[in-house]
Amino acid sequence: MPLVVEPQDLKVLVNELNFAEKVERSLDLISKAYKLYGDGLVVANSLGKDSCVVWDLAKRVSPDIRGFIVTTRFKPKETKEFMKEEVARCPELQIFKNDEEIPDKLHETDPDRCCDILKVKPTRQAVKEMNITCWITGLRCTEGRTRTDFKEVEERDKGLIKLNPILIWHEREIWQYLALHGVPVNPLYKKGYRSLGCEPCTQITSDPDERGGRWLGTSKCGGECGIHTRPLKVNYQI
Ligand code: SF4
Repeated sequence: MPLVVEPQDLKVLVNELNFAEKVERSLDLISKAYKLYGDGLVVANSLGKDSCVVWDLAKRVSPDIRGFIVTTRFKPKETKEFMKEEVARCPELQIFKNDEEIPDKLHETDPDRCCDILKVKPTRQAVKEMNITCWITGLRCTEGRTRTDFKEVEERDKGLIKLNPILIWHEREIWQYLALHGVPVNPLYKKGYRSLGCEPCTQITSDPDERGGRWLGTSKCGGECGIHTRPLKVNYQI
């Protein structure tokens, strides 16, 4: 039986539910999904602030819920260090990475291909190797122009449910949750970043768009790496 959520106007939920109601809604979504998918329910943890919230919420539902991290050779040293700390704290987080050779400066000449090789491929690998039937993400519909059309429960790939349990949270509520629950975050936020990615493709900006510092100066500016838009249940080759 699929996970069913009453269709509701997301904009209304974003603006009318208060912080505590949003937390309850998110916990309820994860809890229902865990009952349905059990060990097939896995959190995608990007080590960003939104993932830290989702990971904490999932652990409140059950400490047994597993997670995966996709990392790349281009992640900042602070993110790599934070990843080590998180995996030491939570060994149920599995790391996936693609070390295949890529053309020099591919992130400048063809960032879509670079993301496809370094991020989408290892995500496909995680889905397959961890036998994931439902993955949980930290997507939020207020993050930027590319994130307004998602739903709390989606099935973009047949047989793979995607749960976006904090889709309706504001950025402020993310920080509210992290502060109130004492959840550790990547130290890069202290420097002024609002959205974190690979070092060459992430900048600090004063753009009102939260993801405005991602792939700045390219056609991909403020866009997506592909894990939320590309098929994930396909044959992968590493
Ligand atoms: S974010 Fe940049 S460096 Fe990282 S995989 Fe994508 S294009 Fe490559």
